[in-house]
Amino acid sequence: MAPRKRTFKEDADAWRTEHTRDLPEAPMKFPVQDVSHPRESNKIFALINKEVVPTNWPDQTFDHIARNDLEIVENGDGTAQGTLQKKPVCYFCKEQRGPQNDVMLLTCDGQMSGEMRDGEVMSEKDRPFRPCGIRFHRTCASTYNADDYNFQYAARFECQGKILCPLHCCGACNVEHQKQSAYVPMLTQCAICLRAFHSECCLPGGAKPLNVAIRLGRSETSTFRMIVCPAHQDTTGTVIQKHLESCCEAGCPIEAKKNKEFENPKPSVPKPKKTPEEKLQQCKKCIRSFHPSCKATKKINNQDAPADICDNCVCQDTISVGVTVIALCPKTKKFQLGKVIRPTDGQLGMMEIKWLHKNRPASYPEKSLVPNSEVAEMRKCYLRIAAAGQLKFWAEEFKHWDEHHLMRCPKVYKKVFLEVKTSVYARKSKKMNTLLLPDVCKCGPNKNCERNECENHMDGRECPPHCASKKSPGFTCNNQLISLGYVHPGLEVRKTEEKGQGVFATEDIKEGEFLAGVHGEICDPIESKKRMEVIESAFDYQCNNYSMTLVQDYTMDMGKYGNITRYVNHSCDPNSELMMDYVFVEQRGKKLFWESRCYLEARKDIPKGTEVTIAYGFDRKNLMIDCKCRADNCTQDMSTKPELDKKVKTKKAKPGKGRKRGAQTVNAPPAKKAKK
Ligand SMILES: [Zn+2]
Ligand SMILES: [Zn+2]
Ligand SMILES: [Zn+2]
Ligand SMILES: [Zn+2]
Ligand SMILES: [Zn+2]
Ligand SMILES: [Zn+2]
Ligand SMILES: [Zn+2]
Ligand SMILES: [Zn+2]
Repeated sequence: MAPRKRTFKEDADAWRTEHTRDLPEAPMKFPVQDVSHPRESNKIFALINKEVVPTNWPDQTFDHIARNDLEIVENGDGTAQGTLQKKPVCYFCKEQRGPQNDVMLLTCDGQMSGEMRDGEVMSEKDRPFRPCGIRFHRTCASTYNADDYNFQYAARFECQGKILCPLHCCGACNVEHQKQSAYVPMLTQCAICLRAFHSECCLPGGAKPLNVAIRLGRSETSTFRMIVCPAHQDTTGTVIQKHLESCCEAGCPIEAKKNKEFENPKPSVPKPKKTPEEKLQQCKKCIRSFHPSCKATKKINNQDAPADICDNCVCQDTISVGVTVIALCPKTKKFQLGKVIRPTDGQLGMMEIKWLHKNRPASYPEKSLVPNSEVAEMRKCYLRIAAAGQLKFWAEEFKHWDEHHLMRCPKVYKKVFLEVKTSVYARKSKKMNTLLLPDVCKCGPNKNCERNECENHMDGRECPPHCASKKSPGFTCNNQLISLGYVHPGLEVRKTEEKGQGVFATEDIKEGEFLAGVHGEICDPIESKKRMEVIESAFDYQCNNYSMTLVQDYTMDMGKYGNITRYVNHSCDPNSELMMDYVFVEQRGKKLFWESRCYLEARKDIPKGTEVTIAYGFDRKNLMIDCKCRADNCTQDMSTKPELDKKVKTKKAKPGKGRKRGAQTVNAPPAKKAKK
């Protein structure tokens, strides 16, 4: 009998158990003798590694799809009965056969969130595993993009390495391009549509809490904390009394110009003849206004987006608890600055706003319930309507919020998908040109190819593996550290406050010491370009962009596979540096061939407990991440490329052709997408 073919899920599971190990919580030590070699399951790659389909968000999007895995009967007291429905059809197209004739239904790898015990949501550690089980076609999931959900990107190994439906990412984090934070667990799901939000930091204002008792088995029922998201509020008959007379779209050029003029009023000079300004359109559903040409969302559900409704209302964007807003005060009938707070009762479509005043007049309320349609996220252009006495206060509040609002997203401490000891070539990547170089090492019994005396090392290459066998017994060659995947034993990975993981010295390290070879996947120019496109199309400001240029447009990518060096953070005043070296790859007859690799070397003495840092030298200026190195000479944008100081230069220049500095050009993350 022929052996049964493994299903896709079994394949993927086997792949995962084979290739992921539970690494100990930080601080963690990297074992020097790690001999894992990555193999990739063809099937999962065939599914997710196809050409990356851009999600088209926010230009073309869809309504949040209604849940068809859960049927809800509300009891009217904030609780409901839920019945799970597992259907053998695609969640998105409701068919067995997909739009491109695909018959395979993928199953979501995620788990149900919000399960409660004794009236409290269980912690991630305590909750039992309840599979989500939603099934869908790959093509259908790749098309659906509400809240900037990107199935293909999430499934990739450099993101989550799992097949996940939209119920396992936070919609609020996602639209803010915080796509690694988005997948940090502890989400609250909407009971009506395919949407979820971080329970603590991203809960939408104006959502109604709903505790749903779900029957899980024959005799098991458990309660899940869910919400009814503001998208399900009945807005028929809403009339907006008053509009904000500034464009609500981010990146509006007209508002940018007006803001500038407002900040630096010029003495009246004869005004140049100007072309008539585009007229503002008032949104029919909320207090916002917009220039039709500034609108980012052109299509919804494959139809033209309504011309008289703003993007926020078309996409049913939420405003999270904690966000600074401008809202219509029901008492004063004026637009006031406020903050969305966690509601006490939670009425659908009503946000609880705490008003922000410099000195609140006694007649003004401290907080109010305001309909969602009368609240808008604060923008710079709305400062122009501040009352004279409040302007400075509003400007300070706005500036603080603008600089800090992304900090509410959960911190991410991601580990490399697979830890490798030495580099591997990416699949289908062509090998780089090897270099014909002689073995010039003349080390003898008393010289163990130490880094400061071996001729090979002085000439910028490692010794070939047979170096030791050429010498007398008892001889060890110390000039193969990159090839052997050696890592300095005095290094460990630890969580940092602001920069994710970092590498720290656990003992005093001297200037010039070898720290670790830089290992990951070697990508040829075509593969490198492809990977950059994936990152750019994902619009993930927290992307795993760990690729570093080697030579001839070849890159070392540590996004999926990597070693300790991938956790080294940037500093504008770094204490270590990337260096380049040649490692032996093959022997043909008597000829020896070498290839380029990078390694990390201490550039200064690194005292025990200090973080090991390098200068990234980002090669593009459109960086979205701000440098948090706190060095005196910080450039704020990680573009620093350190000059070798003179002492080092002369020391390195002496032997042979000298050693090359590593090309530490790290590719830049993507440019900002229009929305938010
Ligand atoms: Zn489908
Ligand atoms: Zn799911
Ligand atoms: Zn979130
Ligand atoms: Zn919903
Ligand atoms: Zn505009
Ligand atoms: Zn609107
Ligand atoms: Zn030697
Ligand atoms: Zn040697």
